[in-house]
Amino acid sequence: MMQTLKNLIQKAGVVGAGGAGFPTHVKLADNIETILINGTECEPLLKTDFYLLCEERDRLESALQTLVEQTGAKNGVIGIKKHTAELLGMTEEVTHGSISYRFTGDIYPSGDEVVLIQETLNKTVPAGRLPISVGVVVMNVETLYNVANALEDTPVTHKFLTVGGKTDKTYVMKVPVGTPVSHIFKSLNITVPQNCTVLDGGPMMGNIINPNTAVVTKTTKSLLLIEDNTLCIRLKTRSLADALHRASGNCCGCRMCTDMCPRYLMGYPIEPHKIVQRLSAKATDTKTFMGAFYCSNCGVCQTIACPQNISPNRLFARVKAELIKNGVKAEMAEQSTVIAERVYRRVPVKRLVNRLGVRKYYRDEYEFIEIPNPSQVTIPFKQHIGAPGEAVVKVGDSVTVGQLIIRPKENALGANIHSSVNGRVTQVTEASIMITVS
Ligand code: SF4
Ligand code: SF4
Repeated sequence: MMQTLKNLIQKAGVVGAGGAGFPTHVKLADNIETILINGTECEPLLKTDFYLLCEERDRLESALQTLVEQTGAKNGVIGIKKHTAELLGMTEEVTHGSISYRFTGDIYPSGDEVVLIQETLNKTVPAGRLPISVGVVVMNVETLYNVANALEDTPVTHKFLTVGGKTDKTYVMKVPVGTPVSHIFKSLNITVPQNCTVLDGGPMMGNIINPNTAVVTKTTKSLLLIEDNTLCIRLKTRSLADALHRASGNCCGCRMCTDMCPRYLMGYPIEPHKIVQRLSAKATDTKTFMGAFYCSNCGVCQTIACPQNISPNRLFARVKAELIKNGVKAEMAEQSTVIAERVYRRVPVKRLVNRLGVRKYYRDEYEFIEIPNPSQVTIPFKQHIGAPGEAVVKVGDSVTVGQLIIRPKENALGANIHSSVNGRVTQVTEASIMITVS
């Protein structure tokens, strides 16, 4: 049963839709106790998962039930914010058979899977280990939606996303994978102002994209127009050289970055203030820097904690890359013990949006909108963790929605990718396949 399930999910090309893009079939191990659905959507301004929870709740619960039964897990848990639960009409944590809901506060980063596991299941994933080490597999709401489709032998061809920020309204939509971002903006009559930057993802962990060239992939979460003078964009456009310059000599050793770090508070061996200070001192010992392996890049240290405007997380990405280049690997703890103060040091999202300068874009309401299909889609070979796949179609081929066009290379980690439209292949490059809609 488990193998049939895995085959269906693999065939449908399901990957983590929350941003990471890990192939979902690979996550389904034999020793799962709990399948935990991340419905917290902890980044501010995003509405996609909330939309799916409102509109597809029965189908999501049913898919989770099937996952639980076919993987042999003990239960399925849907983790959502208390605020979301109230909007869904739930006044208390409910259980239907082996499926239950658990509530979190409106805190950041509740979507970090180790934080979510702690908040909802009261289990601590040891530092350096995967959630399966405590019997848990985590997937986000849209990934579960795609699993529901996979169970009906329907592949991933479309993506739900939020469009918001400096727009008239917040929109939720479903578009074919490969849709140009410019087509979405044009359909919504949105012109990106000169003083705005477009993010794919939330204000904390989202990436800056070029709206003229970017396309929607299986991991595109949102398109947010954010003004350049907000802290959100100023931090994202800070160069590494600037981040290094600020760190050297400016750290007052207050250790706020450490005391607020969600991974340190999980009992992980990461002390950002020490890494910053050792970097400033141009130290080369590996031991202190090993902590960078446990950084989730949540950004709490630079956005909320540091009074000196230092960006520890920007430095840690570089440190981690250097360690990996030198063959150093993260150490795996047998056990990690949560620091008692953790519960008092959660970051309220309301505080975060004020700090980031994005409160003005914060809306409870959204509009689900359908836009016309684009005349052309560009489907990248790499939309997941692992290696880029290889084309199984060539220029001139006719394709239909759901037809396999890219498969993983032999023995490589990857996922199938399907055509999102009916049309003809008009270009195949090293990076993508272009399909002109018929
Ligand atoms: S980004 Fe900063 S706060 Fe977040 S895990 Fe990394 S060091 Fe800790
Ligand atoms: S919060 Fe900033 S100033 Fe304080 S120890 Fe960390 S990096 Fe240094």
